[in-house]
Amino acid sequence: MQDLLRTPIEFLKGVGPQRAALLRTELDVHTYDDLLQHFPFRYVDRTCFHTIKELQENMPQAQLRGTLGPLRAVGEKQRRRLTASFADATGTVELVWFKGVRWLQASLKPGQEYILFGKPSVFNGRFNFPHPELDLAASWEQGLGTALRPVYHTTEKLTAKGLGSRAIWNLQRTLLVQVEGLLQETLSNELVEWLSGMSREEAYRQVHAPQDQTKLDAAIRRLKFEELFFIQLLLLKQKQELQKRIRGNVFQQVGEHFNTFYKEHLPFELTGAQKRVVKEIRKDMVGGGQMNRLVQGDVGSGKTLVGLLSMLIALDNGFQSVLMAPTEILAQQHCATLSRFLENMPVAVRLLTGSTKAAERKSILKALRAGEVHIIVGTHALLEDRVVFHRLGLAVIDEQHRFGVAQRARLWAKSAVPPHVLVMTATPIPRTLAMTLYGDLDTSVIDELPPGRKPVRTEHRNDGSRNAVFGFLEKEIEKGRQVYVVYPLIEEGDPAKMQGMELKDLMDGFESITRRFPLPKYAVSMLHGRMDQVTKDYEMARFKNGETNILVATTVIEVGVDVPNASVMVIENAERFGLSQLHQLRGRVGRGADQSFCILMSGDKLGNDARSRIDTMVRTNDGFLIAEEDLRLRGPGDMMGTQQSGIPELHIADLITDVNLLQQARQVALRLLELDPALSDPKHAPIARTLQGIRAGRPLWGRIS
Ligand code: ADP
Ligand code: MG
Repeated sequence: MQDLLRTPIEFLKGVGPQRAALLRTELDVHTYDDLLQHFPFRYVDRTCFHTIKELQENMPQAQLRGTLGPLRAVGEKQRRRLTASFADATGTVELVWFKGVRWLQASLKPGQEYILFGKPSVFNGRFNFPHPELDLAASWEQGLGTALRPVYHTTEKLTAKGLGSRAIWNLQRTLLVQVEGLLQETLSNELVEWLSGMSREEAYRQVHAPQDQTKLDAAIRRLKFEELFFIQLLLLKQKQELQKRIRGNVFQQVGEHFNTFYKEHLPFELTGAQKRVVKEIRKDMVGGGQMNRLVQGDVGSGKTLVGLLSMLIALDNGFQSVLMAPTEILAQQHCATLSRFLENMPVAVRLLTGSTKAAERKSILKALRAGEVHIIVGTHALLEDRVVFHRLGLAVIDEQHRFGVAQRARLWAKSAVPPHVLVMTATPIPRTLAMTLYGDLDTSVIDELPPGRKPVRTEHRNDGSRNAVFGFLEKEIEKGRQVYVVYPLIEEGDPAKMQGMELKDLMDGFESITRRFPLPKYAVSMLHGRMDQVTKDYEMARFKNGETNILVATTVIEVGVDVPNASVMVIENAERFGLSQLHQLRGRVGRGADQSFCILMSGDKLGNDARSRIDTMVRTNDGFLIAEEDLRLRGPGDMMGTQQSGIPELHIADLITDVNLLQQARQVALRLLELDPALSDPKHAPIARTLQGIRAGRPLWGRIS
């Protein structure tokens, strides 16, 4: 009987093949079920009536009850239109239609009483309604009319074929009658009761044809809850099963490597937060299960070190580790950092990326297989099948938002017992999003920066003050500091996105900076994604070693680059960056003990969103606040590619406005799995059945998109 819901939309009365084709291409509605999931995006209140005397020019819309006068077709061809008068006891207005004249002439009944709804405008001193909605008062009263009219998204093409919002609404009501009794309950009675007692079917009816505001609110809440609840249940169930089914490697001892490093080579004291997180990781590693932990920490909070300490524990237990980074530059830097930290220790660290030369690659792969490499650092290249480990025990994934779930899985496959996984993300994620994206991971937060850091001072300047900005850079360079100047540009490794114009911006910028900061007194490096690897390495190394004063670069330096002596970050065309990107870039400075600065350059004219982003940056250094603001401005779909995360798309709930409901849904799901881990209690049968369906590829809402 569920099959009826999968009936192609074409077969619904009032659709047919032509309109079905349009519904598919325009709204992605293929089946009955899809149509039901095409929820209204707002409702128009039709409880309120006006009289004609009360009409005012600026009313967005008005509803009248009155009598339709005779229809008059006037004008020729293109200018042909239909007019009629419409009167109540207080006055008369004009109605006018420019389209569908013939159809209207055939269906409207002059002399009858109608309910009119539309936007009044004034023409020649009289009120006039272009294209009003008209319902016969008699049928309105028979219940066809609902006080709250759903409004549906539609498109111009659909409207031209008679599928405006109103027509879609009619289809919904036809469909609701057809599927009566067929919409299976997905929640337990208990939960349904808790959610104001509204069944799933009733909720659909109320969402598409609400009786009143109270019922509508209850229906929306129920459907949103259901959506969020099943996502949480899915994630928590996955986690539960992993813990049960997958026996992880037990890293029994903290041994020689860890202890020696900690006591003799660690150049500073760990922060309290770092210690706490290392403890949490330790606990996972001896727990007998497989660790799946997300470490969140703002830029500069010292995540790399936490990763390193974890890898030393793996080594102490005879296991290899892999550290994966999203870009080559970052992988190189990680490798350099680790090598430096481990300089005087017998730990073999190697780098493997897409540009590692064949001969070297071969020798690294061989050593890796033989267990002679203890820690391998690299990019996606590490996922290739020919990368084989002797005994992989731990995978540390840095800046995870650029790795999809599928890639995580490929790493897993490299070892009989899946390795412990530590995901480190520098982009703080708003809690709601973390709960959804990483709902199957345990979370640790490094909420403390190493001591002695001064917050970066952020200023907004426009092109007019460029001279003053250059003057400022000069002073900083005199003090021995280094400067980044970043242009929005070229995405690394994606030639399709490289745009000549923007490359020109960077080149022009480089030129004007070298003119202002000429050799031999100054040295300026340039770095962008289009350069070959050798040049990139060379330029980066020169800057890192303090041989150049200024690095003019694109966002290739966005993530992870660590040059503590750099104290100024100038971001050109700052209005073109997203918030989290700006925050990442700013995180490149403020890594040493000196006061650091971030200067956001922009043109004079800024859109609202751009201004809001820049203001946020100037106002706060708090990555979590910035992430919340980013989510608010951009919406969740856009952040970190939720689509590739494997999490079902949301149809009705909203991660920004439904935070509380999301938290409730997670709580309820947690409790449910505590009480009935296998969901075997007959009371929970609808939930178990729905979850099973989702896992078998039949998502809660219609097709898999
Ligand atoms: P992120 O969390 O952004 O990856 P990093 O791991 O790159 O941060 O660390 C930023 C800088 O702080 C590095 O130079 C690192 O050596 C230093 N650092 C890390 N932990 C501490 C600490 N406990 N005390 C002082 N400096 C630290
Ligand atoms: Mg980092």
